[in-house]
Amino acid sequence: MRIEQELKLGFKDVLFRPKRSTLKSRSQVNLTREFTFKYSGRQWCGVPVIAANMDSVGSFEMATVLAKHDVLTAIHKHYSVDEWSEFVANADENVLQHMMVSTGTSDADFEKMHQILALNDALMFVCIDIANGYSEHLVEFVEKVRESLPDKVIIAGNVVTGDMTEELILAGADIVKVGIGPGSVCTTRVKTGVGYPQLSAIIECADAAHGLGGRIIGDGGCTCPGDVSKAFGGGADFVMLGGMLAGHKESGGEVVVKDGESYMKFYGMSSKSAMDKHSGGVAKYRAAEGKTVLLPYRGSVEDTIQDILGGVRSTCTYVGAAQLKELTKRTTFIRVEEQENQVFGKA
Ligand code: 5GP
Repeated sequence: MRIEQELKLGFKDVLFRPKRSTLKSRSQVNLTREFTFKYSGRQWCGVPVIAANMDSVGSFEMATVLAKHDVLTAIHKHYSVDEWSEFVANADENVLQHMMVSTGTSDADFEKMHQILALNDALMFVCIDIANGYSEHLVEFVEKVRESLPDKVIIAGNVVTGDMTEELILAGADIVKVGIGPGSVCTTRVKTGVGYPQLSAIIECADAAHGLGGRIIGDGGCTCPGDVSKAFGGGADFVMLGGMLAGHKESGGEVVVKDGESYMKFYGMSSKSAMDKHSGGVAKYRAAEGKTVLLPYRGSVEDTIQDILGGVRSTCTYVGAAQLKELTKRTTFIRVEEQENQVFGKA
């Protein structure tokens, strides 16, 4: 047994230190980033925020609206090839360029992913996603996908340490997805005791990835626009959001009316709700590692995404970053033991 003594940090443990700035207004801040990816050589330009590949977040409707803001959507893996085919036939090229195709690691998943990608070359991102990215099986699968799809942008995860980030990049991933345990409907830390505070995971994995010309996605744990900024400040190239984008008209969830109020069901992809829906229940050898919650129904996601992007722009003006790309260089985090003043409730 070993204990690492260095305290790891979550979003709640830091704030940005303001810096002198020549920026006069948030409107001067550019949140668009341009990337050329390591293996695929593909170029992508847009706002590097991603709706998570969860049932009631990563829907086709979500992608259609978020693409207008140049924001990405990782489409959940439960659409059939026929549904994809119909969507792709009617969608704008710009929407397709802002979508990620999610896949598991079975042979059937591999086949299905190929069929979807073959529908249109504008679909450039493949998101290979398993709860425990430390499995040797993931590394082998990434190698296999890289060999069969040399010109697609491959995302693989989830991991939380530099060593595994490097291994996935060396296996052929352009982007590594970072986060184990921080999610809003995740119970991994409770069920297993495994996890890593998300800001430290981002800082350490970004450092490892950037050294090899790879990129990372900070996935999970953002509860407010300030957390999204902190993820970027810590070095995340992309930030993935589940709970912050759930509960909207475009999320594709079930609306439930209770005591005259409307709610939307939101659940983790390893929750009992998800396993009942997609896998015929929770298998005997495993425990659910996600929960189900009812969120107040929030209408269209338009206002929410503007609020998030407005918050990140404002962070940039406080630290003097004219472009999102500069935010991490302009970031000094101070460690704190206080965040919002909640004397009159939460914001
Ligand atoms: P959020 O933005 O809601 O805090 O986190 C979203 C992320 O939580 C997802 O992108 C995914 O990585 C993770 N996640 C989604 N469902 C589950 C689940 O059932 N269990 C666990 N451990 N993580 C989940």
